[in-house]
Amino acid sequence: MITALRGMKDLLPPTSILYEKVIKTCTKIAAKYGYESIHTPHLEATSLFRRSVGESSDIVGKEMYQFEDKGGNDVCLRPEGTAGVVRAFIEAKLDRAGGVHRWCYAGSMFRYERPQKGRLREFHQFGVECFGEGSVYEDANIITMAYEILKSLEIKTTLKLNSLGTASDMAEYKKRLISFLDANDAHICEDCKRRKQTNPIRVLDCKNESCQIIYANAPLITDSLGDEARTDFALLQDILRQNGVEYELDARLVRGLDYYCKTAFEFVSDEIGAQSAVTGGGRYDRLVEYLGGRASYGVGFAMGIERLMAIMALKQETSTMPNGVYVGSLDDEFIPLAFSLANRLRKSVKAVSCYEPRKLAKHLQAANNGGFKYALIIGEDEARSEQAWVKNLINGDERRIKFDTLVQEFCDE
Ligand code: ATP
Ligand code: MG
Repeated sequence: MITALRGMKDLLPPTSILYEKVIKTCTKIAAKYGYESIHTPHLEATSLFRRSVGESSDIVGKEMYQFEDKGGNDVCLRPEGTAGVVRAFIEAKLDRAGGVHRWCYAGSMFRYERPQKGRLREFHQFGVECFGEGSVYEDANIITMAYEILKSLEIKTTLKLNSLGTASDMAEYKKRLISFLDANDAHICEDCKRRKQTNPIRVLDCKNESCQIIYANAPLITDSLGDEARTDFALLQDILRQNGVEYELDARLVRGLDYYCKTAFEFVSDEIGAQSAVTGGGRYDRLVEYLGGRASYGVGFAMGIERLMAIMALKQETSTMPNGVYVGSLDDEFIPLAFSLANRLRKSVKAVSCYEPRKLAKHLQAANNGGFKYALIIGEDEARSEQAWVKNLINGDERRIKFDTLVQEFCDE
């Protein structure tokens, strides 16, 4: 038997219904904040991710679905959404056009990770990216948006907030961190020794507990912030407080990706195992330039949909109420009529017709099993009188409805 690949999951109803619900909620709320949909390809040149996500990141170093295509091109299934969106932004010359661009996206991401709870090889993200806005009010805007999305999905999370400073603050901090790591070289793991060379701040993200004990005494980025980052960070916190968004400061929060500066945030939940991130985001003012565009401000976040769904599935009744109309025929010759009536009904309600004749009781059973609210049956009398026999499967009411008025009759359903 051929099965799905390891770490790749089918989404069947009712999980697929839950998925649609989550994406709909996200895009609807994002639209209210002025964010419009963008769709970019799943496959991109590998160099895009090498440049943007960074050689030293776990994503590029270990997790990419990379291969050569039939034309000999080095390509990669996208491991995250920001890089492709930035490429599209530059390719459309919007960096040169100026102005503020607010976009959102939803779709599959691919990472060759060890599959486990909340960690898949193909997973879905909903993300937003804003280009051209340097004000920290936009950081507050998208954090508030994520907060509202999570609240409306009834997902309890903690918002963790940090500032990574400007590029020069970060350079200063890296020096202090490296001397700390040098002094503790004997006690840190091999991965962290490598990170020290390639991207030292990433050590703070190490999942190794013995390393974390050492890093409890590491210097903090928040002590290296210059005036600009410090003022922005204080203002961000003021705005969030004034708008009822609760947060915790976490000076050890660094984003997994290389291009972040200033605001970094994560929404974490402990409902699906140990503190698991459901949303990560922040500011990336240097990324557009890194990728060859004209320097443009950038800020965004990405939500892991599977992790949201795992939390929702713990609490939510996903099955839907009976709805729609099942259309059945008692006789072979009325099947075309049943098909046309279902077609007509769709102007106002979900309708599905059965393609084979059955006895009334069998039709009612099929309608019940299929989760329909109504069964509409056509027999000889109904065809002749042009009146359908309709049964409400919830309260048992039965009545006849003229074919001509079917659409109006169901328009409130
Ligand atoms: P983690 O530390 O859990 O590996 P990350 O820093 O790699 O997360 P991001 O790159 O910020 O994650 O992606 C944003 C969100 O996407 C995460 O907060 C998480 O909810 C989700 N996510 C990331 N990797 C996976 C995966 N392999 N399977 C399912 N969801 C994922
Ligand atoms: Mg990861």
